[in-house]
Amino acid sequence: MSDVATLDREAIMAVLDKVPDPEIPALAITDLGIVRAILDDPPRVRISPTYTGCPATTAIEKDIRAALDAAGFTQVHVERVLFPPWTTDWITERGRQRLHDYGIAPPSASATAQCPRCGSEDTVEISRFGSTPCKAQWKCNACLEPFDRFKCH
Ligand SMILES: [Zn+2]
Repeated sequence: MSDVATLDREAIMAVLDKVPDPEIPALAITDLGIVRAILDDPPRVRISPTYTGCPATTAIEKDIRAALDAAGFTQVHVERVLFPPWTTDWITERGRQRLHDYGIAPPSASATAQCPRCGSEDTVEISRFGSTPCKAQWKCNACLEPFDRFKCH
């Protein structure tokens, strides 16, 4: 029996931190909170996909696989778990800030969205469907700019 190598979780997290979200490249997948755990025996990264049916999910898994392979973690598997289901509550503080900086209103329980451009709360949803299925399209009545809002989930 050979010694079981200890999994370098920090190094793996550093790799995952550099994997951009396929839809919003300003965000790392770790900002979305989809990485649930890094586990031993067998070594694996456990992820919860975002929206069911979101086309980004398959792309995210492929990107994680490619990033792990490139960093030499070829023995680390990517394990997808559906429960508990991902929610927008898992988006980290850094992720929310990055969404805002990118011009997308972060998800929130409030009925109104804050305009990421001018900060006004005088906004209105103009379409349930934004640039992707995960976002709704909103418009700011103050600066008249349209913006995407991450749908609460
Ligand atoms: Zn505005």
